Amino acid sequence: MDQQQIAIEIFNDLFTEEQQSELINQSLLNVGERVLSRFPENFPAEIKQPIIADGFDYNNESEHGDVIVLGSYRPMNSPGVITFYRKSLGSYCGSLIRKVVKSGVNLGLDTALFTIYFVVEDVMNHETFHHYSDYKRFLTQAKFDSMKEEALAVAHAYQNMHEWHTFYHASMSGNKFHDFFSKYFHHSDSQDSQKHRDRMTAIFSFLMTEHYNNFSLPGYRDWHLYRYPNSYETNFYDYLKNTQLDQLLSNGVPVNNIRSEIRYIGNKGAIIQLV
Ligand SMILES: [Zn+2]
Repeated sequence: MDQQQIAIEIFNDLFTEEQQSELINQSLLNVGERVLSRFPENFPAEIKQPIIADGFDYNNESEHGDVIVLGSYRPMNSPGVITFYRKSLGSYCGSLIRKVVKSGVNLGLDTALFTIYFVVEDVMNHETFHHYSDYKRFLTQAKFDSMKEEALAVAHAYQNMHEWHTFYHASMSGNKFHDFFSKYFHHSDSQDSQKHRDRMTAIFSFLMTEHYNNFSLPGYRDWHLYRYPNSYETNFYDYLKNTQLDQLLSNGVPVNNIRSEIRYIGNKGAIIQLV
């Protein structure tokens, strides 16, 4: 499964077919134009101050009390598994969509689907970081430090969101949301395109603040320390290296080019599941 497919599954959980057609046909307002947006009955409530965590090396979302577990990673010796938790994603994304609408972008296909896709993308980037670290530690025997790894994982996902774009697979072209994704990620020239771009910018900047504020647990909350490219890349390398890599680096081999390496490895070799 990829991020788009997972996002569409969560969207299908939150909105019935009929509600989806309403959203698709909804006329979109400019940012800040207020109308009363009607959410479906039984739509998830707003969660005032959600606390997000993920699971490392376990597969059970119920053990964590009030903490919302959106995803988890199981190390690759068994082999690597990236799991997305459908129920938690639904209630967390539902709450977030309500907040986006409250911030001044009326309910439409973009407020709903873009918000869900943003969260799914963040979870994928975060778990991909664990996958990459797992692979790297497998080779370097660097020490696992869960506090530091969580902070770096959040920072990694945050960094990636700034460069967020998407690729189309053949599988998307038959999908009824294909136009949506292509409009939002490959700027269309339709007359509405400026409005779409303004709305996307508003939704995106709201989510970048709101979502990353919810990483408030020990470890996770230190992501701020690594949010700038230099602090992120340097600490990332320091976390995963060993003396052999340092030696290669001093010889001029770019073994500290973590960013391009993780981009290449991605989640290859991991099983991706939605449960
Ligand atoms: Zn994590």
